[in-house]
Amino acid sequence: VNFTVRILGTSSAHPNANRFPTSHILNIYGKYILIDCGEGTQIQLRKFKIPFGHINHIFISHLHGDHFFGLFGLLSTYELLHRGSDLHLYAPVQLRDMLFSPQSPVKVKELPYKIWFHPLRKGHNLVMEDKNFFVESFELDHRIPTWGFIVKEKKRKPNVIKSKIEEYSLGIEEILAVKRGEDIIRDNGQVIKAKEVTTPAPEPRSYSFVSDTRFFPPVVEHIKGTDLLYHESTFIKKDEDLAAQTYHSTAEQAAMIAKQAGAKQLVIGHFSARYKDTSVFLDEAGKVFKNTVLAYDGLKLEIPLRKISSEE
Ligand SMILES: [Zn+2]
Repeated sequence: VNFTVRILGTSSAHPNANRFPTSHILNIYGKYILIDCGEGTQIQLRKFKIPFGHINHIFISHLHGDHFFGLFGLLSTYELLHRGSDLHLYAPVQLRDMLFSPQSPVKVKELPYKIWFHPLRKGHNLVMEDKNFFVESFELDHRIPTWGFIVKEKKRKPNVIKSKIEEYSLGIEEILAVKRGEDIIRDNGQVIKAKEVTTPAPEPRSYSFVSDTRFFPPVVEHIKGTDLLYHESTFIKKDEDLAAQTYHSTAEQAAMIAKQAGAKQLVIGHFSARYKDTSVFLDEAGKVFKNTVLAYDGLKLEIPLRKISSEE
């Protein structure tokens, strides 16, 4: 039931001695997915002991260098490591042209592993589905085509109460039936209600990644009720005009989106290197949305299990 996010980089485009550019690694039920891959992502993965080879899905929000310049290095490293398993890339279609061109620094055809390229599309789309979770993409408002992602846990089946298994000597078939919500009728006429012997599963959790974007309220509908929202916050309020001009958000704007979306928690990052003291970001966001945390490189956030859903 693991659902954690490790933020590997929190700076924006200008090099920063204490921060790497954007990259997030998620661990969901032991599966790793990488969202964005700025320069230095490999170093950060090593530093935080994330097993490289266990990453099979990489999502790239847009093709600004601070979000994907680390990808070519990582793909090359996989070659050095003799990776054999398939790798799935979800990214703007232009990356496919770069990667698969004869000039590409990575000779895709000679790699010991296969790359499946999934171009991101307009609108809100399901882009990846796993046994336990799925990922959807939606568009943002940046200088070039840019996508956000929401990673959602699937609804789990109800839990069977241990003492009830013993009390009724429930067999495997019967356990599976009550997990599906079916009542049991035994040959002797005995009826065992599914509701009596199970407790509902916790509500599914979600993580939303809102990459570079101008203040963009339409994003709210895509991330409604999310447990943890990452929203870029490049500028502070006094530079609001600059934020709009460069298609970025301020801390306050990120908080407004979190509030409108009914998020449980907000984490902000992608800070401009012009600010020495990032506590201003927290002050400004915190005034609008109290449960805000300031990202730093290496920050690990756990998305806790939600309360058990009430019975319908
Ligand atoms: Zn950008």
